[in-house]
Amino acid sequence: MQKITLVTGGAGFIGSHLCEALISKGYRVICIDNLRTGKLSNLQLILKNNNFKFIKHDVIKPLELKEKIDYIFHLASYASPPYYQKYSIETLLTNANGTYNILEIARKYKARFLLASTSEVYGDPKIHPQKEDYWGNVNPVGKRSCYDEAKRFAEALTMEYNRKYGLDVRIIRIFNTYGPRLQKDDGRVISNFIYQALNNLPITVYGKGSQTRSFCYISDMVEGLIKAMFMKEAKNQIINLGNPDEFTIKQAAIIIKNMIGSKSKIIYRPLPEDDPVRRKPDITKAKKILNWVPKVKLKEGLEKTIEWFKNGK
Ligand code: NAD
Ligand code: UDP
Repeated sequence: MQKITLVTGGAGFIGSHLCEALISKGYRVICIDNLRTGKLSNLQLILKNNNFKFIKHDVIKPLELKEKIDYIFHLASYASPPYYQKYSIETLLTNANGTYNILEIARKYKARFLLASTSEVYGDPKIHPQKEDYWGNVNPVGKRSCYDEAKRFAEALTMEYNRKYGLDVRIIRIFNTYGPRLQKDDGRVISNFIYQALNNLPITVYGKGSQTRSFCYISDMVEGLIKAMFMKEAKNQIINLGNPDEFTIKQAAIIIKNMIGSKSKIIYRPLPEDDPVRRKPDITKAKKILNWVPKVKLKEGLEKTIEWFKNGK
C-alpha cells in the first residue's frame, strides 16, 4: 500500500514547498493547517492532485484521522518574531498541546515523527558556530521565550516519546530559511528588505546591523528535511540544517538594495529584545549523517526570491 505522509503547517512557507516535493516524489500527503500564516494559494500546484488532501484544523485541538499515517513532518508553528510575539500564547500552545496531539497520532500509528525545531533553541549563543550538543543561552521569560521555550518543550516531549514509547523520531533544528512564498508582511528580515527595496521604502536595519545570520535557500532546506525523514541513519538524531555562510544584517541590506538597484535609504531602528548577536550552524553532523550540504549561494537564492516578489505574488 502507498505510504501516507502527514505534514502539519503544510500551507506555510516551508511546508508548502515540502508538500510539493513529496508529491513530486510520489508520496501521498495529508496536510493540516489552520491557515493563520499559511495560505491555500501556496498549495495551488498540488491542491487538486489525487495524492494530496488538505484538512483545515488547529493542532492545538486533538484530531482523529481515518487514514493510517506512516510519516509525520510536524511544522505547524508561527515562525516570524513579530507573529509569534503577537500570537504568543497560541505559539506556546501550538508547540506544547499541538506537538502532544501530533505525537499521539504518531504513537497510535507507529509513524516516524520529524519535529521542525529551530536554531532559536540556542538563544543568544555563547558558542559559535552552533553545534547540536550546545544547550543554548535562552532567556526563559523574555519576549522571544514564547517561541524559544515552546520549541525546547516540543523537543523535550519528542524525546520522551522516543524514550517511553520507542517512537522513531528526528529533531531538525532549522536555521534562517528564505525563498519564494515568504509573505511580504511576514516581518522576517529577507522578506522585509526585498519588499522595502522593491518599493523604494526605507530599509529597516534593527540595531547597528552588526548581528549575523546565515541564510539557507528553501530548496536546500526541503532536500535536507526529506533526507532527514527517510534516511535510516537519521533515526533518533538531532540535526542542524542551515547554510553556514554568515552575513551581518547590514551586509544583507546592502546586497539586496544593490541587487534590486533600489533608491531606498538604509535606516536604523531599535534592536528588538534578546535578538541573538551571532548565528551560524555547524553542519558537520548533517554532512556526515545525511550527506547533505546546501548548494544555493545567497545571491542566487535572492535572485529567485526577488523575482517572485516582483511578480507580485
Ligand atoms: P510559516 O508561518 O510560513 O508556516 C507555519 C505554518 O503553520 C502556517 O501555514 C500556519 O498557518 C501553520 N500553523 C501555525 N499554528 C498552527 C496551528 N496551531 N495549527 C495548525 N497550523 C498552524 O513559517 P515557516 O517559516 O514555513 O516555518 C515552518 C516551521 O519551520 C515552523 O515550525 C518554524 O518554527 C520552523 N522554522 C522555520 C525557520 C525559517 O527560517 N523559515 C527557521 C527555524 C524554524
Ligand atoms: N531584522 C532587521 N530588520 C528587519 C527585520 C529583521 O534588521 O526589518 C533583523 C533582526 O533584528 C534579526 C535579523 O534581522 O537580527 C533576523 O531577523 P528575523 O526576524 O528574520 O529572524 P530571527 O533570526 O531573528 O528569528
